[in-house]
Amino acid sequence: MDAKQKYWNPVLETLPQEKIRQLQLKKFQQIFSWTHDHSKFHRQLYEQAGIKPDDIRSFDDIRQVPKVEKAMMRDIQRKDPFPYGDALCVPLEDVAVFRQTSGTTGQPVYQPDTWQDWEWWAECWSYILWAQGYRPTDRVFIPFGYNIFVAFWAGHYAAEKLGCEVVPGGVLDTKARILKIEELQATAMMGTPTYILGMAETAKSKMGMDPSKMTIERITCAGECGASIPSTKRRMEQAWGAKVYDHAGATEIGAWSFECTEQPGGMHVNEALFLVEIEDVETGEIIDEAGRRGKMIITALDRQAQPCLRFDSKDVIEWADEPCACGRTTRLIKGGIVGRADDITKVKGVLLAPSAIEEVVRDIDGLGDEYEVVVQKDGDTDRIKLRVEVLPDAEDQCQLIENELVDQLRLKTNLRYDIEICGCETLPRYEVKAKRFKDLRKKE
Ligand SMILES: [Zn+2]
Repeated sequence: MDAKQKYWNPVLETLPQEKIRQLQLKKFQQIFSWTHDHSKFHRQLYEQAGIKPDDIRSFDDIRQVPKVEKAMMRDIQRKDPFPYGDALCVPLEDVAVFRQTSGTTGQPVYQPDTWQDWEWWAECWSYILWAQGYRPTDRVFIPFGYNIFVAFWAGHYAAEKLGCEVVPGGVLDTKARILKIEELQATAMMGTPTYILGMAETAKSKMGMDPSKMTIERITCAGECGASIPSTKRRMEQAWGAKVYDHAGATEIGAWSFECTEQPGGMHVNEALFLVEIEDVETGEIIDEAGRRGKMIITALDRQAQPCLRFDSKDVIEWADEPCACGRTTRLIKGGIVGRADDITKVKGVLLAPSAIEEVVRDIDGLGDEYEVVVQKDGDTDRIKLRVEVLPDAEDQCQLIENELVDQLRLKTNLRYDIEICGCETLPRYEVKAKRFKDLRKKE
């Protein structure tokens, strides 16, 4: 691959929108037919809805295809044949890779992939990395404990596919990883926003090192939406003296979106490989216009062993109205994933997305990166407690910080909070994904 080439796939990334739609329709017809013919579970689902492969002639027809939810996959996998149930579209001996979902929302779902699917995973990630400026000259460090989950395996393979030099930082602890980055002069890395910030904190407070003076130039984030929250992104970029880019993907879907080097305030959907639809949560209507939020229904157009067809991801997104300056013609989702349909909860009758709180906290100077939100009942009233950490050199400004928090939170979320300002390093630390939002009303 010529390092000067701007796009990973110059044809597919610059197709006019109408050509992209034609391609998506054609690919949807193929994957629908494949799935209908090979998965007993899907065939029954489609027969019940009275829909067959020949019925898919237009985009409107796609919208008649029944959605699949995670809970349905969980149910199928509890039944025979072991271990994937009757949604597996290939003979068991063709399955080359096992991964499972993290199980944060219930029993994990198993994910079988063939070798071809796994090559497809690496291809999805190649679009991401190339768009974020990775080139064969990069030395990529992956500070992550690779395991049974899908996280960063495909990023690793794609970086190799691009021709980068890849350093697996698997079982090392945080300090050893930081020393390795310095020793090898790594230029790029991948991680969750929580861990990227945590590493910088460890380097500064426990090792007397300044990560912004190290050689990291670009960081790819995944697993949490922080890299699309402007204040969190800014903190990461300042800490490491590097550009930070967001990416979103999921075990049962694939790596479907990415931010490019233009940092347009959103992520491209890789529309050559995925069909993304946005559904109004209340009416079920498909939203094609910009600026209206809904939940994502997604189809992986090429994945074969355990297909992902009209999967109800519960991610809340909206289309952006402006094209991106990078020249890619694929549509952007504004502000990345703005929440999960399950997480957006009503407090005192007001809809609250936890990411809005993060945006405020990380935008205030004098506060550390960690925070914790607890929602609970006090009699009949909901109360929200926000705990934040003050940095040592801002301890004399606690009152000012508290006033600013209250004002900004009221402005951004229309709610009042009880603020507790804690000392540095008193809140829990997380290695991978954080659990900073606790809704205790559900248990009460
Ligand atoms: Zn772009």
